[in-house]
Amino acid sequence: MRYISTRGDAPVVEFEEVMLTGLARDGGLYLPEHWPHFSTPELHAMRGESYADLAATVMRPFLGASPAAQRFHDLMSRAYGGFGHSAVTPLKQLDHELWVMELFHGPTLAFKDVAMQVLGLMYEAALARRGERATILGATSGDTGSAAIEACRGKSALDIFILYPKGRVSDVQRRQMTTVADQNVHAIAIEGTFDDCQDLVKGCFNDLAFRDEVRLSAVNSINWARIMPQIVYYFHAALALGAPERPVSFCVPTGNFGNIYAAYAARQMGLPIERLMIGSNVNDILTRLFTTGRMAIEQVVPSLSPSMDIQVSSNLERYLFDLFERDGAALAGTMRAFRESGEMALSNRQRSEAASLFSAARVDDEETRAVIGSVYERTGEVVDPHTAVGIGAVRKLHDGSDIPVVALGCAHPAKFPDAVEAAIGLRPPLPARLADLDERAERAPSLANALKDVQDYVRTHIGST
Ligand SMILES: *Cc1c(COP(=O)(O)O)cnc(C)c1O
Repeated sequence: MRYISTRGDAPVVEFEEVMLTGLARDGGLYLPEHWPHFSTPELHAMRGESYADLAATVMRPFLGASPAAQRFHDLMSRAYGGFGHSAVTPLKQLDHELWVMELFHGPTLAFKDVAMQVLGLMYEAALARRGERATILGATSGDTGSAAIEACRGKSALDIFILYPKGRVSDVQRRQMTTVADQNVHAIAIEGTFDDCQDLVKGCFNDLAFRDEVRLSAVNSINWARIMPQIVYYFHAALALGAPERPVSFCVPTGNFGNIYAAYAARQMGLPIERLMIGSNVNDILTRLFTTGRMAIEQVVPSLSPSMDIQVSSNLERYLFDLFERDGAALAGTMRAFRESGEMALSNRQRSEAASLFSAARVDDEETRAVIGSVYERTGEVVDPHTAVGIGAVRKLHDGSDIPVVALGCAHPAKFPDAVEAAIGLRPPLPARLADLDERAERAPSLANALKDVQDYVRTHIGST
């Protein structure tokens, strides 16, 4: 399998190169040159597979002849062996046609672990084979950072630097990053928003001299190897609910568009997905795009679902690439104009194509609390605010068809205890393995929102193991 850039001006590369570099050198995002496709008999054969087996089956076509394909099945068993539920991503029924897929049984209690645990192991194996080191740099709105740190801690060929917006992540999220003692782990508070952090990361990558000097590599959701493992759980859920004979719809609380893009990829690979619903919080740039065909960057407003407090969704570019009929040059022009003006409009053709699959709804904080309350009242289940945004979006968008809807359970409720307590008067406890998080010592350096400061910090702190 070969990979191309969404901006059409970077070399075509193999899987391992994509994984180790993250962003393409033309500023675009890598995508497989074509989608692997599973036939109906192949989908039937997947039905009885364990999660690790299914992960190996679904992902193997993306690896092609890459060395990453060696011992891939063993690696899947290791990646998912440490999850707190033997089904890895279990489904729970909430209502007649509504299920929640719980994606939070990994080490840091959010769906990011599902991909990051795979990526950490693949990275380690690739660097060992090559006898190389790498510096991983990422931005986080809360959950990516801790998941990446958990996946990379103590791995001797790596340093990991994670930028998070100071004061805008929850206490649990911050502590999960700042209490990790391994010397190769560096969590840095930035005086700014998540978008500022993301721009700093992009700035480091676009500085090609710096990028080469420290052997920079990205593990945030712009890295294709982060999207790929997320495709698997869409197969897992749809097969359990009767695919390929019975179609399924998904509702995804969306920030950077990575998770829902994985659903789109699963559909391109032959999974019968009827509709994809986007749940936005008050930072609803995507809902505006998918309902009006226009998007305009606004201020980021802090909400109860901080992992979605984003205005610029980097992975949207992957979907736009298809809406632009895979014309990289045209998309590059549009993305440049969007960067300058802060606005973008879809053509009528693009708008109707997008509307044939996606719908979107905004769920504000008050509605989010009401959803947490009503789900608890009707089912006894406690959901986190991100999951609640998705369930709220299903309630607004569902057309009454009898196609099952799976809402993605993106984080464990104990990750956002204040919001949950405000909604139902109960403080969800952390699972036993994290119960002493409040007592662990924090290391929390902070830096100004300045590219040079970040680059200097990275230079002086790499290789301190
Ligand atoms: C990352 C995250 C999201 C947003 O997912 P994207 O892939 O960025 O769209 C939503 N909820 C939670 C809990 C997250 O950690």
